[in-house]
Amino acid sequence: MDHFHYDDGRLLCEQVDLEKLADRVGTPTYIYSRATLEDHYDRLAEAFAPLEPVICYAVKSCDNLSILALLTHRGAGMDVVSGGEILRARAAGADMSKVVYAGVGKTDDEIDLALDEKIGYFNIESEAEFDNIADIARRKGATARAALRINPDVDPRTAHVKTTTGRKESKFGVDIERARRFFAARGGDEHLRLCAVHMHIGSPVYQVEPYVHATKRMLTLVEQLQGEGHHIEAIDIGGGFGADYQTDQTPAYADYARQIVPLLKPFKDGGGQVFIEPGRTISANAGILLTRVLYIKEGGSKTFAIVDTGMHHLLRPTLYEAFHFIWPAKVEPAMAPSSRGELDMPGLTKVDVVGPICETGDYLALGRKLPPLKRGDLLAVFAAGAYGRVMASNYNSMPRPAEVLIHGDEANLVRRRETWDELLAPETNPHPVPLGS
Ligand SMILES: *Cc1c(COP(=O)(O)O)cnc(C)c1O
Repeated sequence: MDHFHYDDGRLLCEQVDLEKLADRVGTPTYIYSRATLEDHYDRLAEAFAPLEPVICYAVKSCDNLSILALLTHRGAGMDVVSGGEILRARAAGADMSKVVYAGVGKTDDEIDLALDEKIGYFNIESEAEFDNIADIARRKGATARAALRINPDVDPRTAHVKTTTGRKESKFGVDIERARRFFAARGGDEHLRLCAVHMHIGSPVYQVEPYVHATKRMLTLVEQLQGEGHHIEAIDIGGGFGADYQTDQTPAYADYARQIVPLLKPFKDGGGQVFIEPGRTISANAGILLTRVLYIKEGGSKTFAIVDTGMHHLLRPTLYEAFHFIWPAKVEPAMAPSSRGELDMPGLTKVDVVGPICETGDYLALGRKLPPLKRGDLLAVFAAGAYGRVMASNYNSMPRPAEVLIHGDEANLVRRRETWDELLAPETNPHPVPLGS
């Protein structure tokens, strides 16, 4: 699952002792394992190898430049959703022809940038958006390729409604019937060449069947479009592959591939290109959030462990009611966790692990059985690599965490901790800027 493991009761990332590291870099800090990132990428690439897919890593899941650079080095393209992410891809040295750009609200400035950077595909979410991009391309004398985002209308059975995206009544993409009219009306544009289809059904998707159903629907559509004279050069099946927030929660890559690869193989053999857009399946298990216990507080029948991080640095528990395994970084060897999940062993007590933010919803775990905790203990919040630091905010005027990337016995700071000065920097007091009229 990853390269975070206990040795004699001490948590290591690869070969680095995290208690010692925390003493040096402080907390809260996101820690990433390079070996885990590479393993996941390589195993995914191997499973889907018969399709020779372009693997566009979803930048939004974990966007640190050092991580983008190492995945680029492995051959990854990038799946981006904003101008800022295009700049990140470029700064990380990505092959811009392997960048695909989704998102329902692309601004003119972002479109301009994407055209200048000659990205691979615009993933188109609506007619109005297509027409706007085509107009801008025409004015610039540029050409670009477009993939139409389709809602195959399958239920991805994601853990949470806020992560379902491929239903008919979703703000993303267009439904299958509308797609044919879309191609009929816009398939001939010379500046924005509509020549591919895209889907992203949700995330995380812990079953293979939703991909199978959706891919079959996409392939039926592709046949219809080809029958109507359209050339379809690529199919992008999106991301959303699961991660192990708990042990063995997600299918193996081989299980996804065993069912998906045969469906798309004929398209590939006919000269088509397949794209996939994995994010969390690569980054989630590759990261943890290290935090220290500030105070223990008894309240009514409850025990609270108040820590130095919370919803402002890891929003998933609050936003999605997501489960993150939490365990002290140093325990009696007998207390080393045998797996990740709701554990039961002698000597555990139930605690709410909560943050410092002035919100009742600010928690990392509720009623979680943990070894006895005291002030100063270091805790690891596991599987926090995806949608962790990227969603961190400065709510309550708190600086965002540092990020460290570990490779073997080497630890490298890849994002320094934000400072208090930086929090105030964008504000103009005592020199407000008159905007005029
Ligand atoms: C978020 C997103 C992804 C990645 O989702 P994961 O669950 O991180 O794999 C891929 N494609 C699109 C269009 C997305 O919006």
